[in-house]
Amino acid sequence: MIELHELTKRYGDTLAVDRLSFQVPQGVVTGFLGPNGAGKSTTMRMILDLDRPTSGSVTIDGKRYGRLSEPLKYIGALLEAKAVHPGRTAYDHLLWLAQSNRIPRSRVDELLDLVGLTSVARKRSRGFSLGMGQRLGIASALLGDPEIVMFDEPVNGLDPEGILWIRNLMKRLAAEGRTVFVSSHLMSEMALTADHLVVIGRGRLLADLSMPEFIRQNSRTAVRLRTPQPERLLDALDSAGIRVEGGPEGSYEVVDGDLAKLGELAAANGVVLHELSPQQASLEEAFMQMTADSVQYHAGGGTPLPPGAAPGNPPGTAPGAPGAWGAGWQAGKAGPGGPPRTGTGAPNAKPEEEN
Ligand code: ADP
Ligand code: MG
Repeated sequence: MIELHELTKRYGDTLAVDRLSFQVPQGVVTGFLGPNGAGKSTTMRMILDLDRPTSGSVTIDGKRYGRLSEPLKYIGALLEAKAVHPGRTAYDHLLWLAQSNRIPRSRVDELLDLVGLTSVARKRSRGFSLGMGQRLGIASALLGDPEIVMFDEPVNGLDPEGILWIRNLMKRLAAEGRTVFVSSHLMSEMALTADHLVVIGRGRLLADLSMPEFIRQNSRTAVRLRTPQPERLLDALDSAGIRVEGGPEGSYEVVDGDLAKLGELAAANGVVLHELSPQQASLEEAFMQMTADSVQYHAGGGTPLPPGAAPGNPPGTAPGAPGAWGAGWQAGKAGPGGPPRTGTGAPNAKPEEEN
């Protein structure tokens, strides 16, 4: 088991990791999720004793990495930076690692086979594609048949086949009872692999919970309404005391709304509806809300945000696209026939005022 206790790393003025405490459970895939710059790689380097904590501690089976004899037998890791000598063949690289950890030579062939590199085992790794490099890195990590495996953003830059392969491998390793700790900045990736989630932002722990619990807590639902008679609809909702938000393309959304009741309300007020549909916020949106305050840089501006500043729509989100909910506005405040305003995605944003 990996255990972090108040783990902290400071680089000059940058607090990369800020009093992180959590444990990585055995027999499941634990996703280590956070936006770029959150401190994931720094944390992983400290787990492997490649970086020294400013304060706090991290142990593997109760010991610091540096205290483990033949560490490859306890923990295998694939970090972001490739550490393979480009002039060495895949076979020689693995053999060198095996011999330095008193691992039998036969294991090298086994691993080459497992990761599908047997046919290129005698080629120098400088000619390897990114995917082949990742496979070699994974073979190195698994060489000592470790109880714990740790992968830092393993699917970055891989093709769909490579991604699928790594996902299945991680699940298989966990099913064998191993501790699998994998980082990513993509919720969508974690949703497909992780059983447990540790979310960090700006070096701080934001969440430590099971994937089903994360889904339960974060999948808010809403009812989307579309009408050619927006004034009527907004009046009806306002009279009924129902809060509504602007949805995409001129639609309206009622968070946690009751589909049947809203349909009946529209009928009772003679509002023609072109759409009445249930909506579910994606986990990606939930993650973006959770980490909104801790995202360092945003697409477009590239300007650092002051702490607590409200970010704009998530990168890659078109204006008016279904953003994270929460920046609602009152139905009564909409100007007659005026376009609905879309949420800003900021968790605590106040409703916009009319100018
Ligand atoms: P992540 O892996 O989550 O993207 P990192 O751990 O790489 O985040 O970085 C966390 C923060 O620490 C970032 O602000 C980064 O710029 C800073 N950082 C990481 N490594 C160093 C280093 N060697 N020297 C100075 N700053 C660093
Ligand atoms: Mg990283």
